Amino acid sequence: MIECLIYSKRCFIDAQIVEATLHLKNEKIFQIYKGFQKLENISFFDYGHLIVMPGIIDAHVHINEPGRTDWEGFDTATKAAAFGGITTLIEMPLNASPVTTTTEAFKKKLVATQNKLHVNCGFYGGIIPTNKDDIKDLIKAGVFGIKGFLTHSGIDEFPNVTKTDLEAIAPILKQYDIPLLLHCELNDNNVPKVKNPQSYQEYLNSRPQHWETNAIDLALDIQERFDIKVHIVHLSASEGIERINNRKQKTNKLTVETCPHYLYFNAEKIPDASPLFKCAPPIREKANNDLLWENLLNDGFNFLASDHSPAPPERKQIETGDFFKAWGGISGLQFTLPVLFSEGKKRGLTLEKLIPLLTENPAKFLGLEHQKGKLEKGFDADITVWNDNESFQISEDDIKHRHKATPYLNETVFGKVIHTFVNGVQVLKDAKLITLQQGRVIIKNT
Ligand SMILES: [Zn+2]
Repeated sequence: MIECLIYSKRCFIDAQIVEATLHLKNEKIFQIYKGFQKLENISFFDYGHLIVMPGIIDAHVHINEPGRTDWEGFDTATKAAAFGGITTLIEMPLNASPVTTTTEAFKKKLVATQNKLHVNCGFYGGIIPTNKDDIKDLIKAGVFGIKGFLTHSGIDEFPNVTKTDLEAIAPILKQYDIPLLLHCELNDNNVPKVKNPQSYQEYLNSRPQHWETNAIDLALDIQERFDIKVHIVHLSASEGIERINNRKQKTNKLTVETCPHYLYFNAEKIPDASPLFKCAPPIREKANNDLLWENLLNDGFNFLASDHSPAPPERKQIETGDFFKAWGGISGLQFTLPVLFSEGKKRGLTLEKLIPLLTENPAKFLGLEHQKGKLEKGFDADITVWNDNESFQISEDDIKHRHKATPYLNETVFGKVIHTFVNGVQVLKDAKLITLQQGRVIIKNT
């Protein structure tokens, strides 16, 4: 039995920063005491002024195992997560091989996690044009949602779906009340011809806002007609905000996320021939990103997620600098908290607003709101302890993902994760990994 007490002057409890002592026992938060509380024979950790908050839940991560473990695997990704204060992540159904579009593939995925989970991990299933008959079984097997693309995904085994495909599975999603997660870009030929593939501006122009807004319109239409949960992943286009917010006034079944890279980087500052910054939809101009921030500060986003989507440096075309040949995806799982906190500081983002976007809100989206995402009696003892006053420059040594290829390298950020607890066990102590394999597979109960 592992039991301990965690004290801080700044614990995030009931939406406020308060002085408290958490009593962890048998993997749960057994009790919360106001103020300073020592108990005989129980280890006591005095964390002073460090922030003690629920462990971060990252509901959008690509891990690539099995099949493309040379890109990223469960071992490296979940170690990086522990360093980043992420105690639960949900893995996307593509980039691994096989892709998670059948229960057989899902079983292989579960096998691949064995002895490699250092934080908790759940999964989404995928919809492609040929697996409509597999969706029900995937849901019964315990996936947290069904993800589809409306444009080419970058992975040939995971082709995009059409409106007709989505209409076919909507009744099943409705029956099980499982969200449909959509990559919202609907490609057309109304884009300029590419002259210089190393030009970021040309890459940006190749994936215009109207691709996103046309796809969002399709998503909203499906949501409304079938009355199902629809989640728009990684919104980048500010032109999508108004239509999403309008619909959200009428339903609570529409949700939307955005990611740190859309909030931290701006197109104007992205150098040419630097495909480390390539992702889809693309990172847009500062004026656009200011509107994403405005929406965030106005509670327009349900939660924030990393969309960690790493690849080996050669896939990122570091040598050629070709944005169009490079893998589209930003590697940065580990740095979500400091990146958002640092940029948020400049924009008036309070801890009271930031913390739920990384904890309570994704828990609610996943249906885990009675178990995770809050420091509350009876909840899972997943806890992140960090120093909001400590800044650091991100060095290669800091990066625990399989590959160091990330646009966050050399950025100076505030907010260092010092301790992480997973299922009541301390896995990160003084920013060093001390315990392995404390993570669990989490299965959605339907
Ligand atoms: Zn993604």
